[in-house]
Amino acid sequence: MITSAELIEISERRSAHNYHPLPVVIHEADGAWVTDVEGKRYLDCLSGYSSLNFGHRHPKIIEAAREQLERLTLTSRAFYHDQFAQFCAGLGDLTGKDMVLPMNTGAEAVETAIKVARKWGYEVKGVEPGQANIIVMDGNFHGRTTTIISFSTDPDAHDGFGPYTPGFRIVPYGSAEAVREAMDAATVAVLVEPIQGEAGVLVPPDGYLTELRELCSAEGVLLIADEIQSGLGRTGHTFACDHEGVVPDIYVMGKALGGGVVPVSAIAANRDVLGVIHPGQHGSTFGGNPLACAVANAVIEILNTGEFQARAAKLGELMLGRLRELVGHGAVIEVRGRGLWAGVDIHPDVGTGREVSKALLKRGVLAKDTHGSTIRLAPPIVVAEDDLHWALDQLVDAVYEL
Ligand code: PLP
Repeated sequence: MITSAELIEISERRSAHNYHPLPVVIHEADGAWVTDVEGKRYLDCLSGYSSLNFGHRHPKIIEAAREQLERLTLTSRAFYHDQFAQFCAGLGDLTGKDMVLPMNTGAEAVETAIKVARKWGYEVKGVEPGQANIIVMDGNFHGRTTTIISFSTDPDAHDGFGPYTPGFRIVPYGSAEAVREAMDAATVAVLVEPIQGEAGVLVPPDGYLTELRELCSAEGVLLIADEIQSGLGRTGHTFACDHEGVVPDIYVMGKALGGGVVPVSAIAANRDVLGVIHPGQHGSTFGGNPLACAVANAVIEILNTGEFQARAAKLGELMLGRLRELVGHGAVIEVRGRGLWAGVDIHPDVGTGREVSKALLKRGVLAKDTHGSTIRLAPPIVVAEDDLHWALDQLVDAVYEL
């Protein structure tokens, strides 16, 4: 049998080094647990960056995928197929919006929202051609396309990839006042992560999203919520915006929408916004394909029960409660989070996030560092309470061992 070490060596030699994976080669998975090629089990506390909110191979999702694989997988949007209507109506109902536009990856959905906002700006708001601007946040992460990285403030994501797409204004995250100051008559949208995931699970001040909503409504500007990582149950509600009762003009969704099986992303908006797109103006060969829609339909049915949202809220209280007890004792300097999603900052003098991730790996827990000294914890929401306690015990031990 080929070993993990051999597989890692080949992978490193034959793939671009655009990631820095932890040294584990996963062979199979079930629920919250994965098993490597040597048979060692790990509790997954990353969930594919929240793509696996419902666990690995959720039976209902796998059944939907399997049934669809036996029947029809791809048509292109040149024709209708029998999963599409349910997908659009179901996701529209989940978001409370009239219409959806399906794509595949998160970045594509963000690009879609940007294009729709600009077109809406010219056709509905009356912005001068080519003059639209969109306000975005410092520390944002919205994906890796050239337009999106044009307004990234992370040098690794941004530098060396110019020329950049103009038309974005960057303001500090968490300040509605800064957004107000950056707005002018050509502002078509404010693009925000309700919680900044890649930045280290940064939860903005209470009332921030409400203030953005009020500001956008008053100024005739679209509020675009990138819920790709924060949405679909992770924070204890269907959307992170729900914590403030805020309804954006455009929801951007991805990751867990594909149930951990296939890439599925979409935006949802009302007809007065999404109606600006006409045939030939935007699309994707695979966006909204039958397999993707069948899987997403199962995901939407799961979300409609509210079971996962409630479980994330309950387990999240437990997880964040235990993590907050660590603050100020030893290496942990700050804990942030909402629902079953936390960022744990390790004192940089004590150790790096990478060191903690490696110590956790040895102890059978998969977690990934971000921005040097932050550990992100986002177990699948199916995780058993005892398993979650066990993973937190491992974290405590790993941190104290530093
Ligand atoms: N937006 C947010 C908030 C994300 O967290 C991510 C991925 O981490 C993306 C967009 C990009 O999604 P994808 O990697 O599927 O393109």
